[in-house]
Amino acid sequence: MNEYGKRVLEDVIAKNADQSEFIQAVREVIDTLSPVLDSNPNYEQNAILERIVVPERILIFQVPWVDSNNKVQVNKGYRIQFNSAIGPYKGGLRFHPSVNLSILKFLGFEQIFKNSLTTLPMGGAKGGSNFDPKGKSDLDVMSFCQSFMRELYRHIGPNIDVPAGDIGVGAREIGYLFGQYKKIVNAYEGVLTGKNINWGGSLIRPQATGYGNVYFMNEMLKTRGESIEGKTAMVSGSGNVAQYTVMKLISMGAKVISMSDSSGCIIDKDGIDLEKLDFIMQLKNVRRGRIREYAEKFTGAKYFEKQRPWRLAKTDIAAPSATQNELDLDDAKALFEGGCFCVSEGANMPSTSEAVAFMQSKNFLFGPAKAANAGGVATSGLEMSQNSLRMSWSAEDVDAKLHGIMQNIHAACTSAAERFGMKGNYVAGANIAGFLKVADAMVDQGI
Ligand code: NDP
Repeated sequence: MNEYGKRVLEDVIAKNADQSEFIQAVREVIDTLSPVLDSNPNYEQNAILERIVVPERILIFQVPWVDSNNKVQVNKGYRIQFNSAIGPYKGGLRFHPSVNLSILKFLGFEQIFKNSLTTLPMGGAKGGSNFDPKGKSDLDVMSFCQSFMRELYRHIGPNIDVPAGDIGVGAREIGYLFGQYKKIVNAYEGVLTGKNINWGGSLIRPQATGYGNVYFMNEMLKTRGESIEGKTAMVSGSGNVAQYTVMKLISMGAKVISMSDSSGCIIDKDGIDLEKLDFIMQLKNVRRGRIREYAEKFTGAKYFEKQRPWRLAKTDIAAPSATQNELDLDDAKALFEGGCFCVSEGANMPSTSEAVAFMQSKNFLFGPAKAANAGGVATSGLEMSQNSLRMSWSAEDVDAKLHGIMQNIHAACTSAAERFGMKGNYVAGANIAGFLKVADAMVDQGI
């Protein structure tokens, strides 16, 4: 590893010893930047690495709210404004009990490079709360979101920081957050993305991350003369990203055999068709139920409590789309033994470092999250453009732009990897292509 990179990584490890996810994300990036750092001493002179691994600003705040039993509850709120070299801060909000500084810093750090890869002018950020929307009434969720925004509003704005959804933050939460922001600042402006299409959202934004991942996967498959058509596919998760990944995989001719939630997973050897997917979408988005019910409804499907799909059946391709570190080394080995040769990450950092190294050693087509799931934030960027122009583009227009962006990201990863002697390594390609644009902007702008 390049000496400068090594020194900065050691410093990050020493100063953030309790933040394992953040260290994992930084290590992965610095590991692949050696040839870039070797050939550009300018980055060391400008302390680019030291600066890029430290958020420009971390906001931590109290979120007190009153629940439907008239009891006062208190949660912790965060916004990490990581890097603004190439545009206003941009990144999702996650509401989940596991949320902490390490997880949000890893997500915010990754977001810098992902946003850069889209070629749209967006800096990197992430935020959220340890609030758990699961099992809460709409009134509880509204009360929480209003309190969260009562603090956050003063730190965000259409040209400052534009949050979006993530785990636990969907259309309902974005609605309550936007409503509160609008009341406080007395302005109707594009401060959040993921808005409902009736009041400022973009067509295809809900679909974008899942569709984008399948487009990226297809680009990787094309490099080996393959396509999605006729492939067996495993997907994990059953939220926003997973649902639209499954939808696009089905429409492109794959047979999808798995989905999951945080309680367990289902394997359906007959394949999940559009009708069965519609059941899942009703179950998850409207009734807010558990994936177990799928196996109770459809004969031929089996439910596995507390298990992930990877070791339970054979597949050609896989799209982990639930959460971080949900695919470990043993899972990767099981996938390989079952004939899988292509994994494209819908979730952020769903594969452990050991799993990634194993898959790369077995010549998998491996699409890292930064590149493969960038379609979501790219379409958020398109939502921001439509808001600024006060226009709404058609679904066909946005989908075509999304498809083009995913093809360009694939091309950028491929050429960056080749240029620095790591042909076929999409992890290196994504990190290098994403880094160069941000690092050069930081040099241009001075300290
Ligand atoms: P959702 O909240 O819509 O869905 C999350 C899914 O993952 C649910 O099925 C949930 O199960 C499951 N899940 C959550 N936590 C865990 C856990 N600890 N173990 C197992 N399963 C879990 O979120 P999204 O679909 O939006 O996000 C999924 C992933 O994609 C995240 O990593 C997110 O950062 C990433 N992502 C999302 C983007 C977007 O546009 N939404 C953009 C880019 C990346 P349950 O129902 O039980 O909670």
